[in-house]
Amino acid sequence: MATKTENKIIVAIDGYSSSGKSTMARDLASRVGYRYIDSGAMYRAVALYALEHDMISADGSVDETALIGDLDKIRIDFELQADGTQHTTLNGVDVEREIRQLRVSSVVSPVATIVAVRHRLVALQQSMGESRGIVMDGRDIGTTVFPDAELKIFVDASPQTRAQRRFTELVEKGAQVSYADVLANVVHRDEVDRTRAESPLRKANDAIAIDNSHMTREEQSAWLLEQFNRVISRKK
Ligand code: C5P
Repeated sequence: MATKTENKIIVAIDGYSSSGKSTMARDLASRVGYRYIDSGAMYRAVALYALEHDMISADGSVDETALIGDLDKIRIDFELQADGTQHTTLNGVDVEREIRQLRVSSVVSPVATIVAVRHRLVALQQSMGESRGIVMDGRDIGTTVFPDAELKIFVDASPQTRAQRRFTELVEKGAQVSYADVLANVVHRDEVDRTRAESPLRKANDAIAIDNSHMTREEQSAWLLEQFNRVISRKK
């Protein structure tokens, strides 16, 4: 395990919605003592801000001018909880539960296409990685945020597997949702994320691809730890 500062690396984990990348990233970070950052939570927090300030109309279109004008007023942070998990805060308020709801999932991808929003969040994410020793997951971490990351992973699974995972997670949290709506949301977000002009979702050339459709959480974590240890051993 790498603990010496000079040996610390950046781990970039990208992939499709609900591909289980956050779980893999979180597990790795806690096993090797790195900081975990969920970059999707940051886009979700901006989307929640836009919803709360009536910047999103009923047809889903975003008032970009208003949102860009308010970017300086949006403060996003992560607060460490007693149980070791992190909660996303928006202007000092814990919004962890709210940002996971389908009403936010439904509008986050269009918000994430706005170039000024991306530039702002990418700069924030890069500053969080300055001291290295970080595992960050998202859509453009290996391509745009940390193109020099020592370990890049690209996670995929079938849309049905991913929708089932997200559906189970939402139901467990007490949400009233249908599997069909969750699947539609997953497929729609894939499409918007893949086709946007600014840093679209794509595998970095030097990323290692993994399809975890038929892997247990333990198998995924063990696989990722192996990749991590391989990179670390080469640095020594
Ligand atoms: O990872 P999660 O599904 O919570 O991300 C929510 C949305 O935020 C994605 O569907 C995508 O539109 C956007 N996102 C992004 N770039 C990232 C992370 C998330 O565009 N690095």
